[in-house]
Amino acid sequence: MDLLLKEEHHQVRETARKFADEVVAPRAREMDEKEEFPTDIVRQMGELGFLGLPYPEKYGGAGLDMLAYAIAVEEIARACGSTAITLAAHVSLGCGPVYEAGTEEQKLKFLVPMARGEAIGAFGLTEPNAGSDAAGTQTRAEHRDGHWRVNGSKIYITNGSVAKYITFTARTDASKGTKGISAFIMDTSTPGFRVGKREKKMG
Ligand SMILES: Cc1cc2nc3c(=O)[nH]c(=O)nc-3n(C[C@H](O)[C@H](O)[C@H](O)COP(=O)(O)OP(=O)(O)OC[C@H]3O[C@@H](n4cnc5c(N)ncnc54)[C@H](O)[C@@H]3O)c2cc1C
Repeated sequence: MDLLLKEEHHQVRETARKFADEVVAPRAREMDEKEEFPTDIVRQMGELGFLGLPYPEKYGGAGLDMLAYAIAVEEIARACGSTAITLAAHVSLGCGPVYEAGTEEQKLKFLVPMARGEAIGAFGLTEPNAGSDAAGTQTRAEHRDGHWRVNGSKIYITNGSVAKYITFTARTDASKGTKGISAFIMDTSTPGFRVGKREKKMG
């Protein structure tokens, strides 16, 4: 007897497994070799509702739970690890902070398009000199003339080159140590945003 999974979880597994077998698996090797972002596959995952699976429908999500989301990631990962990471980074790192800590206005503006699959999300914490030691964050944000001016660089940001919205961390008050680091959401069309060199990750 299956005590944990409800009908909706079985449906998600069936849909994700079919999609993984028929669409993702045949392209997995090629995607890894070419190191290309699978825009069309991600778009299809959005159409299936995967890009907002665990978020409420009022925020553009599918209104399911974390178990359903984990099942979808598991099934996609069976076919292609990097496509699964793209999905997981978008849902957990891109949408997650906005859902957990964003204002209602931020949720409507940023989370809704991300959860609907209309915009890719990412989370930028890691820097060349701040990985495990996030307290070493050097990116700075200064409040000037009613705007925040940000200077710094991030590294290894999953979906960073294709994201429309990135939640990132920056130091707002050097005198406050770890308490002087805040999170910001930015639209990557903001002037000054630039994607750096692509890391060679395979082989
Ligand atoms: C596939 C992938 C996707 C990623 N996606 C993202 C993303 O979307 N957003 C993002 O912000 N970052 C992302 N990262 C970055 C990731 O979070 C960092 O790589 C991680 O935090 C480690 O930082 P680092 O690479 O600078 O290594 P370091 O922090 O320099 O660590 C190097 C080694 O030292 C060890 N070490 C570090 N500190 C200590 C300590 N105090 N005691 C003992 N051992 C220690 C570590 O375990 C590790 O083995 C991603 C990384 C990978 C590989």
